[in-house]
Order: sequence, then C-alpha cells, then structure tokens
Amino acid sequence: MKNIHGNIVDIINDPFGFTFNEIAGIIGEQNSSALFSSLYKSNLPKKIHTIWIKEIVKDTDTQKYIYELFDHKCIETVCIKRRTGMTACVSTQVGCLVKCSFCESGKNGLLRNLTVSEIVQQIHFLKEPVNRIVFMGIGESLYNYDALIKAIHILRDRNGLDFPTDGITISTVGPIKMLRKLREEHIKIQLVLSLHATNQKVRNALIPGMSDNDIKETVEAVLSYSKRHNRKLTIAYLVLPGINDTYSDIKQLVEWFKHENVMINLLEHNQANQLIFKDVCRKEVEHFKNKLEDNGLEVKIRVSHGRKINAACGQLVSKYNNK
Ligand code: SF4
Repeated sequence: MKNIHGNIVDIINDPFGFTFNEIAGIIGEQNSSALFSSLYKSNLPKKIHTIWIKEIVKDTDTQKYIYELFDHKCIETVCIKRRTGMTACVSTQVGCLVKCSFCESGKNGLLRNLTVSEIVQQIHFLKEPVNRIVFMGIGESLYNYDALIKAIHILRDRNGLDFPTDGITISTVGPIKMLRKLREEHIKIQLVLSLHATNQKVRNALIPGMSDNDIKETVEAVLSYSKRHNRKLTIAYLVLPGINDTYSDIKQLVEWFKHENVMINLLEHNQANQLIFKDVCRKEVEHFKNKLEDNGLEVKIRVSHGRKINAACGQLVSKYNNK
C-alpha cells in the first residue's frame, strides 16, 4: 500500500485518471475542487498530459484526431459536427479482440486496454467543445469495463466537465456478462447494441468474438437494461443484402422489438481496405427500412460521416500501430 506521498506523486503525474472523491481522500475536498477546476474548467494551456495529438485529419464535417500514447501506440478519436452540436467518438482499447468482419479496428487483434486517464484525455484535448460522447471508437468498450465506468464518472463530475449523462452513449457488441453488470450501475447512459444479425450463425460469421454469447440472451440483456434505466435502446444494424435483410430477419426483428422502446439504426457498409463486403447502395438500405417500418418498427438510416478520411464506423485503425 502506498503512503500519502506516493499517492500525491501519482496524482501529479497523471491527474486525469482520478475521480474527485479519490483526490479529495488524499489532499482534501477543497484542494480536490481547486485541482478539478484548474484541470477541466480553466483556459490555461493544457500542459499536463500522457497522450499527445500526433495528427488531425479534416473533412468537411468530421475531424479525426490521432493520439500518440506514452508507449508510442496510437488511437483515433473522431469529432463529428451535427446540427445540434459536436459528437466525439471515443476509443477504449488499442485494437480489438472481437475482430468483426466488417471492421478494420480488430484486424490486428487487441494490443492493450486504454487507461482511465487515456479515455478522459481524448475529450479533454479536443480543439472544440463537444456535447455528445459515444464510446464507439476503437475497441469493445465493455471489455475495458472498469476503466470505462470510472472515466464516465470523471466526465460527469460537476466539479469538472460536468458532462450530462444524457449525452453519453456506450456502443457494444454485447458480451452478456458485462451487459448484466452494466444494468446494475447507477448511470443512466444511452446504450447501442451492434446486433447486425437475427440468428446465431450469421452473427458468428460477422462478429466472431461473440460466438459464445447467445444472440437471444444478448437481446434480452439489452432490453432489460433499457427497461431498468428507462432509456430508449438503439439497435445498430449493418445492412448486408442477401446476408441479413431477408424475410426471416424482418420477422425476427419485429418479434423482438415491435413492442419495445427501441430505435433500429441502419448502417451502410463503409469499405475499408481489405474487407470482404461490397459497398451497399442506398436503395437496398431504404428498401429494408421501409419493410421494417411497415411492420411497426421505428427505424433510421445513420448517415455516415468521415468516409473520405477513413474516420467512419468500421474504418478506425491507426496506421502508426502497423510500423
Ligand atoms: S466493430 Fe467494435 S467490437 Fe467489432 S472489431 Fe470493430 S471495434 Fe471491435
């Protein structure tokens, strides 16, 4: 166990990894308040950090920040301008072990989890303020569970950024054990399940890392979260014609979600370097949307941002980690 001096040195070296209460427990509430305020609220030059902006790539409404970490690994964070403000798409891991077949981020497997501080700093060092955070960048966020939850507590702290809970979304492929744990947390964040299939066989092919998670139990677990926290659940569904948009897919989606507080978000495939699917035309996605709506589901097509700069869903992977 560390003595007080050791704890203070840890705070000085990497203050973004600590909650307000943790710091208050070491240096007192007043000092914690002053530290949080100077870290998160002041306009002083941001000199303390353990991640660095290596490059910012810009498109019309999208900016991709490539951050370098202390061990020279890189991650990406994407800012998307919307009518209602700015959304930051934040990473939680370097690489990903789930290896979805439509996503570049898992191509080289998992290199490591991000620390709490590395997650918080991705927001802190953005050049523009954001009003929405989605944990939808590189990595399966629930596989870095403790760091994710602690980072959310820090981001929400009224002594610091005071980020509204409503503006925070976790996106997950749905490891059941972690979903059940999340259900018991006292944080009413928005939840997105990347479902992409309605039967185990197709899901296993698209999301190999989830093959030991029963698809029906996964759906039950997210619906249970949504009910307990009174939050509308979003189901992300990448439309792959002939693979997951058949009559039986429509039937199953209707059976699961028709009478639930659910929005189906249809995604168009973003071609990344070596992946197997062709780009899907808008007509095919719209046809699937109409079918689902005719059957009483609430459906939207998610507009893809940042394709040109490889910043859209499924395209995030840092070229620097391949060196
Ligand atoms: S979609 Fe998400 S879970 Fe799947 S490989 Fe990409 S980062 Fe990992």
